[in-house]
Amino acid sequence: MSKDWNPRTKLVHAGTRRSQYGEVAEAIYLTQGFVYETAEQAEARFIEIGEDEFIYARYGNPTVRMFEERIAAVEGAEDAFATASGMAAVNGALVSMLKAGDHVVASRALFGSCLYILEEILTRYGVEVTFVDGTDLDQWRAAVREDTKAVFLETVSNPTLEVIDLKSVSEIAHAKGALVVVDNVFATPVFSRAFENGADVVVYSATKHIDGQGRCLGGVVLGTKEFIRGTLEPYLKHTGGSLSPFNAWVMLKGMETLELRCRAQAESALAVAQALEGHAKVKTVLYPFLDSHPQCHIARAQMEKGGTVVSIEVEGGQEGAFRFLNALEIFTISNNLGDAKSLVTHPATTTHQRLPEDQKKALGISPGLVRISLGIESTADLIADLEKALEAI
Ligand SMILES: *Cc1c(COP(=O)(O)O)cnc(C)c1O
Repeated sequence: MSKDWNPRTKLVHAGTRRSQYGEVAEAIYLTQGFVYETAEQAEARFIEIGEDEFIYARYGNPTVRMFEERIAAVEGAEDAFATASGMAAVNGALVSMLKAGDHVVASRALFGSCLYILEEILTRYGVEVTFVDGTDLDQWRAAVREDTKAVFLETVSNPTLEVIDLKSVSEIAHAKGALVVVDNVFATPVFSRAFENGADVVVYSATKHIDGQGRCLGGVVLGTKEFIRGTLEPYLKHTGGSLSPFNAWVMLKGMETLELRCRAQAESALAVAQALEGHAKVKTVLYPFLDSHPQCHIARAQMEKGGTVVSIEVEGGQEGAFRFLNALEIFTISNNLGDAKSLVTHPATTTHQRLPEDQKKALGISPGLVRISLGIESTADLIADLEKALEAI
């Protein structure tokens, strides 16, 4: 593989390991174990494992390794470790580097399960966590201390699509020696290379755009070789969060079309955001590349496109939102995102149902808020479907 290849080429070819049969499609090595020719070879492999050597699928597997090398090449990271889900990746990245007494600063607008890890799990083991409004740099400056080990944030938040100034937060964190851990799902590996803006560790739920066709759970953590192999791998390989070879193969095939899908989806997202802004039944449209978005300048500086999700607040609160959701024909009601199929979610009653009312309010998760994940269908059909369903309110 050439380092000069564009991401679109790397997404198709990087990391490919051909067997002696010369297969075109990547092989699925659906095996948990590996055999050794001699007892001496087994002994040697347990002392030091070579580039093309494997011991046990929880530690590594050739199909999984292809996926890790491909995503690392696209992201420009030294190495990657694939995990069973996005949450195994988030948990692994944080728990593997932290110990009792450490301090973490996190943006408050987080995916529910990420919030659970920071608020419930880490604190149970003696890690102190301070939450900030991620868009307010003064709050980051006030919260990051000499003993802060890591900062954690979603570059674009779910479901209100706030955009965090990654470069500035990284500068604040690095000045105190803290690592910057970024959940980059909403920005996608196609539109945002978080390492260029200062991230030290980048996490993806591969369940979203990387699979992109609603089939498998998966995740990945990217970073330096030292972090991935020295800090993260020992934790993950002994605690069982590794990716299955079959799911890694699905992710590899997903990556081949990742850039084409994300571009088509982002184009539809922008068109939908523009079409719905000012609509009589729509109070607010949230999309990072709209001029009306409070962080649109930051979004344009750190992302090539605005992403594949649009959130809107419709008239009529929850009743209005439900009428709208139930009237859609192409969009289906589901809590996934990044899929080839267009999906809609009502965060207040599903993904964010368990948040207390005051937190919902603080995060902008109002009863009328609907999250729209654009798929790869015709943009015109999607806009027509949304406009027709809005009339049901
Ligand atoms: C979906 C998601 C996750 C969790 O990923 P899973 O694959 O469902 O475990 C984490 N962070 C963000 C931002 C997500 O959208």
